Amino acid sequence: MGAPAYCDVAVPVPLPDTFTYRIPPALAGQVAVGGRVLVPFRQRKLVGVVTALAAEPRVGGPLKDVLEALDAEPLLPAPLQELARWVADYYAAPLGEVYRAMLPLHSEFARRERARLRAGGAERLATLEARERNEAEQADCELLRRLQDGKPRNVARLVRGLASGRHRLGCLRRQGLVEVVRDVRPKQLQVKPSAPLLFEGDWSSAALPVLTVEQERAVVEIEGLVVAGQFATVLLQGVTGSGKTEVYSRAIQSCLERGRAALLLVPEIALTPAVAELFASRFGDRVAVLHSGLGPRERSVEWWRLRRGEARVAVGTRSAVFAPLENLGVVIVDEEQDASYKQAETPRYHGRDAAVVRAKLEGAVAVLGSATPALETSFHARSGRYQRLELATRVGERPLAEVRVVDMRAEFEETKRPALFSRALADGIERALADGGQVLVLLNRRGYANFLLCRKCGATVQCANCSISLTFHRGRNRLLCHYCGLARNLPQACEKCASPHIYFVGEGAEKVEEALRSAFPGARLARLDRDTAAARRRAEQILRQFVRGQLNLLVGTQMIAKGHDFQGVTLVGVVSADVMLGLPDFRAAERTFQLLTQVAGRAGRGALPGRVVVQTYYPDHYAIRFAAAQDYDGFYEQELRFRRLLHYPPLTALANLVVRDRNLSAALRASRLLQEFFQRQRPEASGLRVLGPAPAPIARLKRDYRFQFLLKSPDRRALQEALRAALAHARAKEFPAGMLLVDVDPLSLL
Ligand code: ADP
Ligand code: ZN
Ligand code: ZN
Repeated sequence: MGAPAYCDVAVPVPLPDTFTYRIPPALAGQVAVGGRVLVPFRQRKLVGVVTALAAEPRVGGPLKDVLEALDAEPLLPAPLQELARWVADYYAAPLGEVYRAMLPLHSEFARRERARLRAGGAERLATLEARERNEAEQADCELLRRLQDGKPRNVARLVRGLASGRHRLGCLRRQGLVEVVRDVRPKQLQVKPSAPLLFEGDWSSAALPVLTVEQERAVVEIEGLVVAGQFATVLLQGVTGSGKTEVYSRAIQSCLERGRAALLLVPEIALTPAVAELFASRFGDRVAVLHSGLGPRERSVEWWRLRRGEARVAVGTRSAVFAPLENLGVVIVDEEQDASYKQAETPRYHGRDAAVVRAKLEGAVAVLGSATPALETSFHARSGRYQRLELATRVGERPLAEVRVVDMRAEFEETKRPALFSRALADGIERALADGGQVLVLLNRRGYANFLLCRKCGATVQCANCSISLTFHRGRNRLLCHYCGLARNLPQACEKCASPHIYFVGEGAEKVEEALRSAFPGARLARLDRDTAAARRRAEQILRQFVRGQLNLLVGTQMIAKGHDFQGVTLVGVVSADVMLGLPDFRAAERTFQLLTQVAGRAGRGALPGRVVVQTYYPDHYAIRFAAAQDYDGFYEQELRFRRLLHYPPLTALANLVVRDRNLSAALRASRLLQEFFQRQRPEASGLRVLGPAPAPIARLKRDYRFQFLLKSPDRRALQEALRAALAHARAKEFPAGMLLVDVDPLSLL
């Protein structure tokens, strides 16, 4: 038998199938399963991943040829190929798009888009030149002239300097006068043996500390599981400041000593430079760092260091779960409850859950670390599916910070004036700063004012593209949409009724910063939120200055609450605990509880004890009560009862199916077709419940009208089958690509 003559290829397009290609004799023996190939697809050339080889084609009819084999050896080890199939299957995502997310190797390809004149083009040019032309015809004429010699031209250069040149080129293409070819070409990448990426700076790198009794026990347990060489998942539940990072580090060390590799996922590297630095200082050039701040080339270099086995530890954000390590011993997910582990575009995978599956495929140990585990994770720990290890006390037996809840209704009753800061918080800040301590002030809302309201008619200023009111940002003196980025000037009067009486309502972090500056003029103050952190490295810089004591007052959104190890913080103030409680999301209470516990955990980590002041209008809400008591188990019990009652995760599998289109009636029509489809399926028979269609909570987003189906089922298989069937139905009915958004285990229902 000769070399296989056919192969199946997963191409990065929004279609569920793989496609079969012929392997031309010239490429015989060079195409490998798990390797990349360049293939023609419609008008384009695409890079796909080979999923199978065969002697006979799987389908009849003429087949196209593979153009180039890019990897004679499998690029992806077998467990990663299996992980890709799992992600595609579980999240109902196209396999080719999963591979695209898995392989951060875009810098290895040059993308080109070129145009060429077709047969009728010269004739049209002659006609146009012979007569008077309007503006569009003038542009057409110029484009055709530039292509006159019949040679292909780079599109970007071709349309340069022409008003709506791209649009006109599209028109010419549709009229069949011009041909546009897009393709990619492998680039010769010069991979120099690279130095590892180190974070410069003077963070906490001393001799190894002596482990606490609890840490020691956790390390021994994890080591035992690694040595046993069998898959297991461990929830490492440790209160804030209990030294989880040290446990990760020792577990990784012991893997390396046994010749096995290790993977550590963290929520956001820009916010945890100390963690990356610690691992770099302990493991040197055996560490590769993978995160979104890397340029495509740097990323490629780090990827190959791992693939070649030069680096045996990967530290990175969500997509590092696909790091090409072999012989993995441990897969660690720090702050496993963090929402940034869920990818917001296709494939919408959860990095933590993919990490557990990866560990399973590799016979490794998954370690999920948190002070406030996601409800799903605790649920599995209690059912025995995950093992649970606890770090119940802080390092050095430091006490957890004492939390005081301030009822803002009572505060108003007593003072008779509305205030951003209660007397308890204002006095607390004053005293903490005077005593040489540091203060964190949290308000989890960006901008200056939440929205602009007309006192006369009640209208707010809405985004032109989304059904969302715009937020005022004083720094930029603009109204901004937090969903699509639209920015516009402030209106002078109400746009509905022309009344000049328009007011800002609801404060954001910018306003809190301003109020703190005027109340505490001597403080060394900075603000940290997505607006200030937009400048690369700015977040890192602010955090460093705070750690060094160059700043003593830090105000911001949840960014200031994440795992930072600030030693000098003696007071944490929460301006409003209510911001997240009001969101239309069944996880609102869980998010509030986690955020409050996390931010409270920033206080009292050093020699001085810490205090926390939480302001709220709902002091009796259980999320606030349990957070103030730092009682995770109490919160878990109550929240689980609520989830059970309303059929929400972790007791029910959930998927969100959104139909979206620029055109309202197209979106409506498609939702109706899907609704009829679900009714015909009689989903109740399998325990599946389909709610909707209903307008999504954000009924219009980035100009799309959106209708939502929520699918709930106690049986995950039934849920996945229903999703697949619905997607197949949508294809049969020729829904345009991208009209259906599928989100399995959604973290946001907006
Ligand atoms: P967590 O992530 O659990 O909130 P960290 O890992 O940030 O806690 O650890 C808190 C602090 O305790 C850090 O400054 C860390 O360096 C320190 N630490 C951890 N383990 C020990 C130990 N065994 N002895 C002394 N200090 C420790
Ligand atoms: Zn008005
Ligand atoms: Zn918008």
